[in-house]
Amino acid sequence: MKKWFMALMICLIFIGANHIVYAEQTMVQSTDKNGQITTYGELVSTMKLNGKEQNLNNMPGVIVDGKVMLPRYLAFKKIMGMKISHTSTTITLKTKEHTAEFTMGSTKALVDGEEVDLAIAPFSAKFVVTNENTMMLPAEDIAKIFGYEYSYDAVNQVVSFEREGGIELSYGGLSYYYKDEPIDLYVDGKEVDTAISGFFIDECDFVPAWRISKELGVKYSKSGKKITMTRGKYKVVFNIYKTNATVNGKAYTLDVAPTYIKDKENNVGAYMVPGKVVAEALGFGYEWNEEDYSSSFKKSEEYQIAIPLPEDCQDENYETNDDYFNNRFEIILDGNYSSFYKTNLVSNPYFAVDKVSVSTSNGKTKIILQTSEIKGYRLKEENGILYVKVGTPKEIYDKILVLDAGHGGTDPGAAGNGIYENNCTLNIVNAAKDYFDEDGSIKVYYTRTTNTQTNITSGSNGLNTSTSLRARTDLANKVDADLFISVHINSAGNTTARGTEVYYSANNNKKNSGGLSASKLAQMAYDSVVKAVGSSKRGVKTANFYVIRYTNMPAILIETAFISNKQDAEILKSDKKIDQIGKSIYDTVVSAFDKYPTGR
Ligand SMILES: [Zn+2]
Repeated sequence: MKKWFMALMICLIFIGANHIVYAEQTMVQSTDKNGQITTYGELVSTMKLNGKEQNLNNMPGVIVDGKVMLPRYLAFKKIMGMKISHTSTTITLKTKEHTAEFTMGSTKALVDGEEVDLAIAPFSAKFVVTNENTMMLPAEDIAKIFGYEYSYDAVNQVVSFEREGGIELSYGGLSYYYKDEPIDLYVDGKEVDTAISGFFIDECDFVPAWRISKELGVKYSKSGKKITMTRGKYKVVFNIYKTNATVNGKAYTLDVAPTYIKDKENNVGAYMVPGKVVAEALGFGYEWNEEDYSSSFKKSEEYQIAIPLPEDCQDENYETNDDYFNNRFEIILDGNYSSFYKTNLVSNPYFAVDKVSVSTSNGKTKIILQTSEIKGYRLKEENGILYVKVGTPKEIYDKILVLDAGHGGTDPGAAGNGIYENNCTLNIVNAAKDYFDEDGSIKVYYTRTTNTQTNITSGSNGLNTSTSLRARTDLANKVDADLFISVHINSAGNTTARGTEVYYSANNNKKNSGGLSASKLAQMAYDSVVKAVGSSKRGVKTANFYVIRYTNMPAILIETAFISNKQDAEILKSDKKIDQIGKSIYDTVVSAFDKYPTGR
């Protein structure tokens, strides 16, 4: 028992003695400008960073006026990971957050461009054992500048730097203390298990480029400082440490440069790129949730175009215009958002449309989707993004009608009792349009909605009447409509002739996919329209009028009433009657689709 105690005592003395010997051997001196040599007796041999002990070996810290001074390279670069640069009289310590410039012999330092006072001026010291000179910096001041809790244990000669929670990162080679939650990555609702997570830094949702490419099925390649992510013909090229990127061949400026981020604690790193830009450039749905720090990508290919919406235009606060005669679809926002769309991309990775462009004029912003043929469009808004699905009209709409207002342009049609056919047919079609617009469940292509429209009528585009008729059947056949209805007004030399007739062509009386034939449609329309007009009942008839003969779907032509008859003309002059006739056409179409559903 006694022997054992003695052994312990000897051991303790030996450790103590050894420590003193070490301190004496690593004596530190400095020489001032008058040649006066100072020898530092009290040394700091251990530095603790976030609880982890680091031995300062042959380059210990020293105490000056009760304050700890530490060697620049060992303490601040090697242990704390700061970037150091120096001149003969200054030294700069840099992390992602702060830059501090110290001057030899001065108690003034520049921190992020502002002057701060130091307790002790930096000075150059010589380590006697290694015969090395280095700059000594005030530990407590540096802790304060870079956001560490600081303490010094004089008994054990241990100086401590501590930060609670957070993650020590290297951000593009700069030490960075990340205080937020790491970003959790999700693809189609499933969490991605990654060695290194994403990080939200400088308002940028950094995600690991290689890992997210793999999860999204995107081709990833890195060459030098370029990262290329490719999906089909669409690609985004990032330049590491630079904000200039290329998105689908066009220059694009990022808010924050892609960078290499290393999680120092777990010793894993990755090239990081902004998640939102990746998603928008390559056409994925994307949601950044700042509440729980999650980045959710959606691979779903149902919606091929993603249009970010400015906050004021969200919740369907926009208009659309299907300009099908020009093969384009417009989303119209109230306000000038040209700068918004310089930083928020409209993505079109599936070539759903030939071209997407954004134009602003008269306080409106138009997002224009241009195609080479008539397409259907389905919209869905989610989390501030307007998703657009593009397809053939039949792929998009389950009920398609082509509604034709007869004549128009330079062709007035029949005339009588002070009115013209082209105006009457247009009034009826536009009255029906009000009902279709309100309903919204049936896609209606109108051959014309004005009297000056030149796309379809024999107007300034030089079309004659026969090609005008051809243009009408072409439209119906191109969109592969389910139904075609042409509205006309009758005329006769005998001014007593009056009433309603509905025509179909016996040469075009095949049933459509829903089992509806032209003759059945003609009967339904007749029953409905004849009531609304309230004139004579002249019946359903057959004829080979061009528009009902050369259409590929159940097609009818309504001779609403006689312009040559005084009473019928009064009906056609009445707004109330026009509205009722328009509604009778709308009702016919609704019940035709109800009774003979298309099955789409
Ligand atoms: Zn006519």
